[in-house]
Amino acid sequence: MIDMFVQNVMNVTEAFMGISDPVVNMVAGLYSDGFYGGYNYGYGYGYFSYLIFMLPALLLGLWAQFKVKGTFKKYNKISNSRKMTGAQAARMILDRNNLSYIKIEPISGELTDHYDPQDYVIRLSSSVYNSTSIGAIGVAAHEAGHAVQHAEEYAPIKLRSAIIPVCNFGSKVGPIMILIGCLFAGGFGRSLIFWGIVLFSLVALFQLVTLPVEFNASNRALAVIRDSGMFANDDYKGAKKVLSAAAMTYVAALVTSVMQILYYVVRYLGVGRRND
Ligand SMILES: [Zn+2]
Repeated sequence: MIDMFVQNVMNVTEAFMGISDPVVNMVAGLYSDGFYGGYNYGYGYGYFSYLIFMLPALLLGLWAQFKVKGTFKKYNKISNSRKMTGAQAARMILDRNNLSYIKIEPISGELTDHYDPQDYVIRLSSSVYNSTSIGAIGVAAHEAGHAVQHAEEYAPIKLRSAIIPVCNFGSKVGPIMILIGCLFAGGFGRSLIFWGIVLFSLVALFQLVTLPVEFNASNRALAVIRDSGMFANDDYKGAKKVLSAAAMTYVAALVTSVMQILYYVVRYLGVGRRND
């Protein structure tokens, strides 16, 4: 369900939020000349404003996680009307799209399901591979949808593959540049922060391009479940709920990154100064 690469970028974002960011704020507070152009609020205000800024996005993220866990828990217990396993459902969709050369393998872990376009293999977690639940066919069909996207050279997935290296670079180097920029007063520090923000924005770009890829894979999956004539309407409805909940986590990740970027832009520009 959650592609490994997206997961990596999300982890980087989370790591940045959780560990680096208080450091950035602390440094920005101590060396505030470089960041605000003369206004000093110290550590306390910086961290507080960060929390206020990020709270809606964090709540959305928590809500999405909560929703996806609850929906999966429910539909992983309900068997689909065909008693078809996730692996069988993925096989059926691949064969219907003349993709019989793509293999399906089990993989350990939870939510580790993904399509590997290098090895032409769909890897399904054991709770999906062998399960006959509605959740399992939803996830398996979604991954098969990614395989079809690659085979059809669906434009957003090609674009996403093309920007992966530069986005990965930006997600790593951007935060470091912001942090170092905070240590220097004047133009040099501001330039570093500016370009650090630009580089970090590539994370949001990646997450933005991920949205059509994910929504499209789910739409392809649901169309098969609905139109193949093999499944009951309840199977379709359940799979739709599972895939919609999963899609929300991608939206939440994008909103979180955008808010983070906005926060840095606002601080960079010195908007919200209270001592004017
Ligand atoms: Zn996906």
